Amino acid sequence: MQLKAPRGTYDILPPDSSKWQYIEGILKETAETFGYREIRTPIFEHTELFERGVGSSTDIVTKEMYTFKDKSLRSLTLRPENTASCVRALIEHSIYSGIMPAKWYYIGPMFRYDRPQTGRYRQFHQFGVEAFGSNSPYLDAEVIILLIEVLKRLGLKEYELHINSVGCMQCRDVYRQKLIEHITPVKDKLCPDCQTRYQQNPLRVLDCKEKSCHQAIVNYPTLSQHLCDDCASHYDVVKKGLKANSIDYRHDDNLVRGLDYYTNTAFEIHIPGIGAQSAVGGGGRYNGLVEDCGGPDLPGIGFAMGIERLLLAVDTLAKELDSGKSDVFITIMNDDYELQALELLTRLRQENIRAEKDYMGRSGRAQMKYADKLGARMVIIIGDDEIQQGYFTLRDMQSKEQVQIDKEEIIESVRDRLAKFRGGNG
Ligand code: AMP
Repeated sequence: MQLKAPRGTYDILPPDSSKWQYIEGILKETAETFGYREIRTPIFEHTELFERGVGSSTDIVTKEMYTFKDKSLRSLTLRPENTASCVRALIEHSIYSGIMPAKWYYIGPMFRYDRPQTGRYRQFHQFGVEAFGSNSPYLDAEVIILLIEVLKRLGLKEYELHINSVGCMQCRDVYRQKLIEHITPVKDKLCPDCQTRYQQNPLRVLDCKEKSCHQAIVNYPTLSQHLCDDCASHYDVVKKGLKANSIDYRHDDNLVRGLDYYTNTAFEIHIPGIGAQSAVGGGGRYNGLVEDCGGPDLPGIGFAMGIERLLLAVDTLAKELDSGKSDVFITIMNDDYELQALELLTRLRQENIRAEKDYMGRSGRAQMKYADKLGARMVIIIGDDEIQQGYFTLRDMQSKEQVQIDKEEIIESVRDRLAKFRGGNG
């Protein structure tokens, strides 16, 4: 049997890996500019962390986790998301007793057992940020501004930002009651999942994927009409913050995070045109989460975005990336010069020049063709004349012009020419 990567997973091969490096570079740079620092947590955690930190009634926990027992029969789970792990790390290392807010970002693989389709995988990658320790609505605005800045830097202009406020525990309790009263008379029209959960968690009906549920509860009372004064003014400031930064948004009553620890701001980014899975990222405030996971009462806010979906959106980038091209190729006209070539190769690379040679025993002419394939800008030719007289021939692959360069000056000459190329090409 031919072995294949498991369903829902895939390989990232060159030259595609350059696109990943490019996007990851922009994500990291943007987060760092906004004052977020990288956190790396383990790929697997105790299962209990996600049961508590993601919520035991969520689809992720009930249906989608990769859970296994290790050799000591502990139940471990491949992380389905990274917020819970960040909260665990915050508590475990008592970060909350240091300077606040703690601002973190992460990039890495997540695992969910779901039906694979375009934009949905079983191992996928998320970039996310978390900020702990402040309840300022300006921080909510900052986090959303960061998300939009990432899209801008990636050249993505066609996006839709949806926002809502899910209030605090107090205003939500009142609202929940109202919603249950609205849903109860039409409960038979709900999907089976919602029929079982609407009493305990009526908000989940609002973001249910089934159309029939939305039709059943039409004209439902909205959360935004039931916010307490504090929550209403928090939401107002967030919206003002976005406006002041010229960020368009759409208030979306259906956007609720169905879990108790979510509070106030909730948001989601969609990019129409990347298929059915158009949500590129989402997040919100989760002021109850740290306490729910056994830590102090500490507010938090964050988002996660899927890198695969970003890639779908920026696919046109591929051609623009100077992926894996060599700067210089060393061609030898004779096997006797292998050592000289290797030594020169090392010196070039020590100068951060992308240098390459042949390892397949190609003829001189075939080496030149290979150099062309690698996209080398220059070729250094080492032949009998060169060795006897102490120079190298430097060939410009575009103009085909060849010059003789003193052995001692070759590195400097290559460096100068590359600087000119780069300067010329912006
Ligand atoms: P979530 O943690 O479910 O709020 O997801 C945040 C973002 O991660 C989504 O908007 C997607 O871009 C991405 N995402 C979630 N699940 C998957 C998946 N199975 N495959 C690819 N991307 C995903």
